[in-house]
Amino acid sequence: MENLNKAKQLVQEAEAVVVVAGNGLAKVEGLDLLGQADFERDFPSIVQKYDVHSVGYALDQHIPSWSEKWQLWSSLIQKYSFDYRPSSTLKNLLQLISHRQYFVATSAFGHFFETAGFNENRIFNAFGDWTKAQCSSGINHGLANIQTAAEKIIAAKPGTDLEKLVPKCEVCGQPLEIHLPLNDHFYPDTAANSRFRWFLTGNEEKKTVFLELGVDETSPQLREPIEHLVAEYPQWSYVAADYPQETLLPEIQERSAGTNADTVSLINNLVTE
Ligand SMILES: [Zn+2]
Repeated sequence: MENLNKAKQLVQEAEAVVVVAGNGLAKVEGLDLLGQADFERDFPSIVQKYDVHSVGYALDQHIPSWSEKWQLWSSLIQKYSFDYRPSSTLKNLLQLISHRQYFVATSAFGHFFETAGFNENRIFNAFGDWTKAQCSSGINHGLANIQTAAEKIIAAKPGTDLEKLVPKCEVCGQPLEIHLPLNDHFYPDTAANSRFRWFLTGNEEKKTVFLELGVDETSPQLREPIEHLVAEYPQWSYVAADYPQETLLPEIQERSAGTNADTVSLINNLVTE
């Protein structure tokens, strides 16, 4: 309990908040990358066709045909992102930080923060956002929204030539692919990345709390590098779910709160008066 109080105090006193959210947060929002039971229930035809049993494996599947790739991607994205409704946890988090300077850096690629009403200019989707697409040519031709294309593919009647519905790059005409690091030519959103860096630079001297939620072994880039970053600036502090105090870097222990609470209980605790 003591650590939850400390966590609360650090968040309350902070002038700026950086939310660092991993795939555990995506799970809270309904997208469990490795979960099998729901996937088998919701996507029996994908299970049968490709013998994959989770979103993670479905995305890793090598499918040569663009129309088949897009059929698979469209059904997943529709369920987990276009039909998505924000959880009370994410709404509470927004309420908690909305009156402060904030930034979100996340490996959750389901467009959850944007849909929940967080400022789009204050979100860096470090591992991409699968509601957007990049050129498959290997050259960075920018990001495109894919909702309309995905909806057309899902609504296509049997017999439709799906190849014609595969979205193409406006610059070079090559097929688009969803914006995830599925191959070696993934281009991170550099504009959002720059905004994130500027945000950090602008808050070097301010009380800034890094609120780490649902970061697990699937996104190690969001753990240690962030702790080391916090260690560099004495005004910065670190609050983490699912991460006991003793596991924190020794040099940031005093100004940080690691908790055993999971993401949902930590946020609920932080918003309670
Ligand atoms: Zn292109």
